[in-house]
Amino acid sequence: MVSRVIPVDEFDLVIFGGTGDLARRKILPGLFRRFLSGQMPAGSRIIGAARSTLDAAGYREMIAAAISEFGGEEVNNKKGLQAFLQQLEYVAIDARGEGGWYDLAHLVRQDVVQAFYFSVAPSLFGDLAERLHTNKIANDQSRIVVEKPFGRDLSSARALNQTLAAHFDERQIYRIDHYLGKETVQNLMAVRFGNVLFEPLWNNHFVDHIQITVAETVGVGGRGAYYDKSGAMRDMVQNHLMQLLCLIAMEPPGQFEADAVRDEKLKVIRALQTIDHHHMVRGQYDEGPDGPSYREDAENPRSFTESFIAMRCHIANWRWAGVPFYLRTGKRMKARSSEIAVVFKDLGHTIFEGDEARHRNILAIRLQPNEGMDLQVTIKEPGPGGMRLIDVPLDMTFADALGDDAEDVTDAYERLIMDVIRGNQTLFMRGDEVEAAWAWTDPLINGWEARNDVPKHYDAGSAGPEDAMMLLHRDGRKWREIKG
Ligand code: NAD
Repeated sequence: MVSRVIPVDEFDLVIFGGTGDLARRKILPGLFRRFLSGQMPAGSRIIGAARSTLDAAGYREMIAAAISEFGGEEVNNKKGLQAFLQQLEYVAIDARGEGGWYDLAHLVRQDVVQAFYFSVAPSLFGDLAERLHTNKIANDQSRIVVEKPFGRDLSSARALNQTLAAHFDERQIYRIDHYLGKETVQNLMAVRFGNVLFEPLWNNHFVDHIQITVAETVGVGGRGAYYDKSGAMRDMVQNHLMQLLCLIAMEPPGQFEADAVRDEKLKVIRALQTIDHHHMVRGQYDEGPDGPSYREDAENPRSFTESFIAMRCHIANWRWAGVPFYLRTGKRMKARSSEIAVVFKDLGHTIFEGDEARHRNILAIRLQPNEGMDLQVTIKEPGPGGMRLIDVPLDMTFADALGDDAEDVTDAYERLIMDVIRGNQTLFMRGDEVEAAWAWTDPLINGWEARNDVPKHYDAGSAGPEDAMMLLHRDGRKWREIKG
């Protein structure tokens, strides 16, 4: 298979916060890979804009070091790296003052695609948006990219939306959720809407329940102070897990187009029923062989913030009535593993004598590690001894199935940035989606704060608190094993 690269128009991409952690670890190494695959037209420029006093040469040096630290195999392409660096520029800028804006206005061209990546704290979004206009840098075709966290509740998200809307139309705003840029997440849509097999079964007649797990082995060390004000609900559920839930549960959009897809996702969020607190388990990890407890990491001995959350959700519509969606995410868990599992109903009656087991088809979509999917099917156990049935996975790991082309499995950030340049908003969250997600999570958070809910402890390296197991046991179900 020959990989197809969709060309983009010449662009100027300004990265505010271009010297920051995200820019050095993800954005620039990703752009370098896109450059090597021929997606950065000659003449296009990446302009770092941040507080540090640097010139273009100093910035190129910084980015060369970042790419060699965080890039993959492509860092060995020295010639390519030199050519890429020549397309970088730098402006020292003060988001809150006047310094640097005159220089930026002279550097950014008006006759190419313009994108401004706000890789800075959200408290600076308003200043940047305003100065881009007062200095006549942005025009009505410019795009802005904003990072999570997008608010910490409904009112702050609304305020952020209003701040951006004062200067940019919704069609110009790209709210990144990097989960949506993952290859397998897009495959979710391809599998559902590109195959005749699944869609007829995708409803409460055939699906018993759905599990979404995002488990991490890392703790919050290093960013404990930030995380402690957020917790798993705000940091993971309100954005990433809800986006996955939307893609798995939404109605087929009329076409694969930004607003058609986002309209359907929004309907799912609005149809989510509120959760009784008995159907939600919050947890905090204890000290373990790999590191200190959550409270030590967060430097807050009295913290009630959750590093784990599990919940049972219901979507109030005809397709999903009665089908539980079990969500869980946590830090310091036994393996790094993200997957969505669609567990189908059992047959109800077996024609095979002596077979009392309840066999189930399960479609598991793995986001990490080993992006791919497997479909659990029931077959005859090989060998003599009659008709004994066993369940085996029909496994498709993209790296095996696609061979060399799997190397083309683009990192989420690079894909999303290229979508910004192409002007494709399908994989970005719309303002009303973000607000609807907060409108659903706010009462849950307010509820446990009002109850002074204390998170359950769990062993580092485990699958979470015992109560999370009970959440499914009570329903006669069990979580899938978390495997790395
Ligand atoms: P960082 O602290 O490493 O970098 C901040 C950048 O902003 C620096 O380049 C700094 O020079 C610039 N900056 C700060 N104040 C400025 C000002 N007044 N004027 C001009 N520039 C200014 O932060 P980061 O980790 O790169 O994160 C950037 C944003 O991305 C944050 O909103 C963060 O929440 C979000 N984010 C980061 C990650 C990550 O992995 N680092 C992941 C998801 C989201």
